[in-house]
Amino acid sequence: MFINLSGVSNTEGKVVEMAMEPELTEVKNRMGTFSVVEKKPVRWKLSNTGCDHVCVEAEGFICLMVPCDRCLDDVTVKIPVHFTQELNLAQSAEDRQEALDEADYLEGYQLDAEKLLYHEILMNWPAKILCKPDCKGICRKCGQNLNEGMCDCDQQEYDPRMAAIKDIFNGTVKEV
Ligand SMILES: [Zn+2]
Ligand SMILES: [Zn+2]
Repeated sequence: MFINLSGVSNTEGKVVEMAMEPELTEVKNRMGTFSVVEKKPVRWKLSNTGCDHVCVEAEGFICLMVPCDRCLDDVTVKIPVHFTQELNLAQSAEDRQEALDEADYLEGYQLDAEKLLYHEILMNWPAKILCKPDCKGICRKCGQNLNEGMCDCDQQEYDPRMAAIKDIFNGTVKEV
């Protein structure tokens, strides 16, 4: 998905608006690869702000399938796309790379909108993904999803301090 900026770059004050559906079908980051389950056209607004500067605004969202941090059930995560990016068309590709490290989304007057979008999705990645706020997770012993019901495992065995207190109550350890 490329946007040709030459239509807006030649006239100061010119504004071009468009809606385009993103092409991406999955997002990869250090946590894994996640499928896109819903996408709507993203609205783009390009404004010539003068002196070879074009302001790019994007508005939309994308939905991805991501496992819950606690129980690993699939969760549909809606990631908003909402950003404003100022582009200096007078800048050479070298200057731009020096100024914005990974931002190599401009080739001449061709804006790689897909790359810009992808970067934005990674930036807006939620810190915590839960199927519900009070997700109980899975039993670390038998793997039972505790949202669907408790298992018979003794969860307290995992905390040695709790086990020690229990022993006192059960009379297996006598205090001296
Ligand atoms: Zn969960
Ligand atoms: Zn269990």
